[in-house]
Amino acid sequence: MSGGSPRDSKNERGGTTRESPDDARNQFRPEDHDNDHFILTTIVGSYPKPKWVDRSRELYEDPDADFDEDAWEEAQNDASRLITKEHERAGLDVVVDGEMRRNEMVEYFAHRISGYEFNGPVKVWGHNYFDKPSVVTDVEYDETWLVDEYEFTSEVADRPVKVPITGPYTLASWSFNEAYDDEESLAYDLADLVNEEIKKLVESGARYIQIDEPALATTPDDHAIVGECLERIADGISVSGANGGQSDESDAVPEDVYLGLHVCYGDYSRIYPEMLDYPVDEFDLELANGDYEQLDVFRDPEFTANLALGVTDAHTAEVESVEEIKENIKKGLEIVPPEQLTVSPDCGLKLLPREVAYGKMANMVQAAREVEAELDSGEIDVRNAPVSADD
Ligand SMILES: [Zn+2]
Repeated sequence: MSGGSPRDSKNERGGTTRESPDDARNQFRPEDHDNDHFILTTIVGSYPKPKWVDRSRELYEDPDADFDEDAWEEAQNDASRLITKEHERAGLDVVVDGEMRRNEMVEYFAHRISGYEFNGPVKVWGHNYFDKPSVVTDVEYDETWLVDEYEFTSEVADRPVKVPITGPYTLASWSFNEAYDDEESLAYDLADLVNEEIKKLVESGARYIQIDEPALATTPDDHAIVGECLERIADGISVSGANGGQSDESDAVPEDVYLGLHVCYGDYSRIYPEMLDYPVDEFDLELANGDYEQLDVFRDPEFTANLALGVTDAHTAEVESVEEIKENIKKGLEIVPPEQLTVSPDCGLKLLPREVAYGKMANMVQAAREVEAELDSGEIDVRNAPVSADD
């Protein structure tokens, strides 16, 4: 395409947006992207596992079955390759392996962090059980958590790969604490471990890291604790961030690391605008499920970070039409200009039937491309996007 780039539309707005988060985000724009505008499309992380993956795990865990470590590894590699390619086929700009290697968002990490112990499953809801781990000694980092996963996925992917990591606040909240005076000090120690892991991931080439903190939505008064966790996570990692960000040149970490935070199913008015002080580039928020009733929360003060807006509901097994998703994307444009907008499903899609999950992704990508074309042609007026008062 000739003509303007998304940067031009930013300049028309008087350059009110920050420079660096856009730079970090634009590295994910595909070279063959057709439209001048670019609304980044991605998914939160988890995706329905093919039934044979769960069956393989059962066989692997059954000492009587003839299914060894190599067979299990092969099954996970096959699943990871399959789902990464499924994301690419749907057209996503940034893909994930669907977390095929992770059984559960806390358990997976607890198995790799020294200080954790497992004492059997506890009932969480209905007939569902969760193998809730206990922290029995100070937590320590002794092996990488996701570097192998990232290296495999980025090897098979033709598109950039996002790495979702369960955040320290959620890891602390959803564990039994038998070692620390309080959950807060446990969360801070875990945040330091997440920081170590991210540095290893960045060394391996990862540039898009998403911290998942669903526990924040259920206990929003703890937003200051999550803020301190994120400061520790971003320490030494050059993140542009809504507040001007952190950087530590001595660490020589590339400046294009893009850090996101996913928070879902809660009352955002209890963490906004305080969350804008977090050192992250992007907030990934679930709003489709609540029919955008919470959108007003983000109008004032101005949303200064990038917004990854949930535009398809992860809790309904019905594929929204392209038209409906386009309307949802336009709601995002009421909060941020196009160059600050990413779209994704509300939350992980793993509980949906696989063909429904795929349909949601494919329609979301088509909707984003159509909205971009309408922005290019001027059919969509972005004047509702916030402009700072002193502009
Ligand atoms: Zn979520």
